[in-house]
Amino acid sequence: MAGSREYEVEGIVVRHAVVGERDRIVTLFTAEEGKLALVARGALRPGSTLGPRVDMLSHGRFRCVRRRSLDLIAEAVTLDSFGRLKSDLWRMSCALYLAELTDASTAEGSPNRTLFDLLLAAMSRMDSGECDDRLLRVFELQLLESLGFCPSLRRCVNCGAELRPVENGLSATLGGALCPVCMPGCPDARPLSVDALKVMRYWLSHPLDAACRVRVDVALGSELEGHTFSFSRWLLQKELKSREWLSRLRTEASLTTPGGASTIARRVESE
Ligand SMILES: [Zn+2]
Repeated sequence: MAGSREYEVEGIVVRHAVVGERDRIVTLFTAEEGKLALVARGALRPGSTLGPRVDMLSHGRFRCVRRRSLDLIAEAVTLDSFGRLKSDLWRMSCALYLAELTDASTAEGSPNRTLFDLLLAAMSRMDSGECDDRLLRVFELQLLESLGFCPSLRRCVNCGAELRPVENGLSATLGGALCPVCMPGCPDARPLSVDALKVMRYWLSHPLDAACRVRVDVALGSELEGHTFSFSRWLLQKELKSREWLSRLRTEASLTTPGGASTIARRVESE
């Protein structure tokens, strides 16, 4: 409320930092205000009621108090702690990646309801047990779109020609697809198959749940990962620790268990 010292937001905890012995700085991605950094005073004190309510990835309503420095969380009500998600190492690691990606790609003071809804939908889907590479890829692509960095996938970004159903290219630095004529002139262009182009267009025009039902075989999944990763890296200009951790988890699972990658939901369906 304008002029009031107090306000309330709905948010998801996407980052933590410790301040002193008892306090935490909590970064929320909120429905109303976008990213907010707030102080959770006493959150680390034994028996604190606030502490568990500002745990990483918790979704809740937060009553906050404005201050000259960082605002204060006065009270929090948990809407969903995502306990099932947190009991599974792979799903927890994926959720931490989405949280870090959201945090790293947004600035404070930029409300983005679309991205909040996307993050919440992805977390809810993971909590219900649905968590494979498609979810990560759809999230990455729809996050780019919500931030205004969506790859252009209808016409060649260099010459404007309509893309034909042949192998085209995709360039993060140019922001989209390139026709076969223009592709050789762009050093960072990656080959873009007809199927990958179709799937990315579908993902961008459907809500998360429908987008995650698209069947993607291993080779296509790998190509799509390369495309979304190149755009994310271009946007962030850095590597994310949680993404490196996910790669290690996948590698270790596939090395230690026959078919192990499938146990951490790497498997993508094929027909
Ligand atoms: Zn062209």
